[in-house]
Amino acid sequence: MRPEVLYALFAEVTRLKGIGPRLGKLIEGLAGPHVVDLLWHLPSGVIDRRFSPELASAPAGVVCTLTVHVDAHYPPRSSRQPYKVACSDESGGFEIVFFNAKRDWIMQQLPPGEWRLVSGKLDRFDDRLQMAHPDVIAPLEEADRVLTVEPIYPMTQGLVPKVLRRAVDGALTAVPELPEWADGPLVAQRGWPSWNKAIQAVHAPTDAGDLEPTTIVRTRLAYDELLANQLALALVRLNMKKKRGQAIEPKPEDMTRAENALPFSLTGSQRLAVAEILADMADPHRMLRLLQGDVGSGKTAVAFLAVAAAASTGRQSAMMAPTEILARQHLETLEPLCEAIGLKVGILTGRDKGKARAAILEALEDGEIDLIVGTHALFQGEVAFRDLGLAVIDEQHRFGVHQRMTLSDKGRGVDVLVMTATPIPRTLVMTAYGDLDVSRLTEKPAGRKPIDTRTVPTSRLDDVVDGIGRALEAGTKAYWVCPLVEESEVLEVAAAEERYRHLHDRFGERVGLIHGKMKAADKDRVMETFVQGDVDLLVATTVIEVGVNVPAATIMVIEHAERFGLAQLHQLRGRIGRGAEASTCILLYTNPVGEVARSRLKVMRDSEDGFLIAGEDLRLRGAGEVLGTRQSGLPKFRLADPEVHGDLIEVARDDARLVVDKDPQLSSPRGAALRTLLYLFERDAAVRLLGGG
Ligand code: ADP
Ligand code: MG
Repeated sequence: MRPEVLYALFAEVTRLKGIGPRLGKLIEGLAGPHVVDLLWHLPSGVIDRRFSPELASAPAGVVCTLTVHVDAHYPPRSSRQPYKVACSDESGGFEIVFFNAKRDWIMQQLPPGEWRLVSGKLDRFDDRLQMAHPDVIAPLEEADRVLTVEPIYPMTQGLVPKVLRRAVDGALTAVPELPEWADGPLVAQRGWPSWNKAIQAVHAPTDAGDLEPTTIVRTRLAYDELLANQLALALVRLNMKKKRGQAIEPKPEDMTRAENALPFSLTGSQRLAVAEILADMADPHRMLRLLQGDVGSGKTAVAFLAVAAAASTGRQSAMMAPTEILARQHLETLEPLCEAIGLKVGILTGRDKGKARAAILEALEDGEIDLIVGTHALFQGEVAFRDLGLAVIDEQHRFGVHQRMTLSDKGRGVDVLVMTATPIPRTLVMTAYGDLDVSRLTEKPAGRKPIDTRTVPTSRLDDVVDGIGRALEAGTKAYWVCPLVEESEVLEVAAAEERYRHLHDRFGERVGLIHGKMKAADKDRVMETFVQGDVDLLVATTVIEVGVNVPAATIMVIEHAERFGLAQLHQLRGRIGRGAEASTCILLYTNPVGEVARSRLKVMRDSEDGFLIAGEDLRLRGAGEVLGTRQSGLPKFRLADPEVHGDLIEVARDDARLVVDKDPQLSSPRGAALRTLLYLFERDAAVRLLGGG
């Protein structure tokens, strides 16, 4: 349960004074639903109101705070004119101007004959100074409050700065005194302020320099967030390792047989990865290993050998894919391999229902099935194994930590192998997985021909279609990818359908269409015809992005390639260049193409190296963007920026590991403070692991 000290921070924002349901909705959209979310909504600028010149020397275009006498009011003569108030000090005069303001309110704010502080930006009109709608009007007694530096926050339509600031102030008032959770010597060595001081200070910047992510205050706050992240991951890992693993030692002859079942010999890095995995499996501790390899590097073969190892000792394996298409594809690849060595394979997805499903569940529980391939459906409660030894999770970044645990809880000490094609930098891998062992496939299988990538303007569409026609005549298969339409899936599908009709008019039944709105069964049927041969040209939206493997397809056209991100283009292009034939990728672009998009297309044309492309992607977009993508599923940070605070991730990882070693129940005083930290950053699931164990 959440500690009581944090209740006020986890109240709805509407509990703050002056925030009703309407403003609450706006704040929720901008920062989040709870008071605590306002603490994480950091200023992005400052306004310095300390500058208070005399009128005669006040410059236009600069924010200043003036001490002025209210001379006279000039209400407008027609509704189109502004309301003017003449004011002065000893050195000169100026006008305050209001449009559509209420007369009574102006009278009350600026009573004639009195002195007031007004703060805002001055403009010069026909040699007269004016200030339209001052940001602040206050009596002179309030000088201390007015003559300060104000934070500026990222805003949203419908919310005014003053209201948001008041809400943030309210949130800051709700902040309780919290105990120090960071390591004492580390705090001392870095000269960090306490969390309480830091959170107040970050909302009270005094100049632009205070907004840098590397200030001592922002660094401290970023560290806290990273520590919560690493501690949560360390607890998950502890929990997984605590349940004793099994020592899975396959018979060598079974492994030889499995390797011989492959229609190729392993690459050096596949061989190395298999050795690392088998060593982990033979160890009585549980395996928690990430297999990172570019698209087409051959991760499936590695996984197959791990499955064979488990089966050799009588254990079952589960392989999970993020989509139905991928699950079926894995089944198709693995079934013949498994059959060759006498293993039985089954599939379980959301689509398998009724009798068939019941039969699969029974076979799993009886241990008849050696390998079950599936989607999220494998997480479900009724899915039980006789003896699950290995869980392989493909394209892991789409699943959460929690789901990973659910699957591995379905057996005793299940070994977990996570496969990903996203070449995430090491520091980012740590934010997603904590301390995970990593195997990397660095070479491509032999015999691959490089992909010839070309950029072509859409104005030459007809030539491209002619070229496709010639290739189809010569017996080639091709993908035609239509882009994602950000705002509307309906438009996206419409565009794909239109292209399909266009190409169908030209090439007839050899053209197929697949998109995200189609029923799973229809998608499968289309994929099937593409693989088996009736369809040779497949018009697709980005549903084919991940994992689909049709070696005979050697051409890919990507429409509006300038709209795609680098990682996505690389994933898409990875669908071709999988067979022995040379492949071609045509990136169709429509002018005007922005500078960044142009750089992306150039990177794609010049390189096929996933790691290089990932590096360029980070450079062009910044890690923040990369983290935020639909794809990534990496944790989103509010205060930390892995690109800037990368070194802190390792510090936090080491500290978290130490804590978990020494105080696994978090029962010491510092442990209690760390629990509070986990709740503060909503890592509640990790705290629950401390319970029963
Ligand atoms: P990914 O890492 O993208 O999942 P796959 O496992 O789908 O890659 O492999 C891509 C293709 O490469 C498949 O057609 C597979 O049969 C082939 N392949 C894998 N390993 C080798 C190898 N060592 N030699 C030749 N072909 C291989
Ligand atoms: Mg794959």
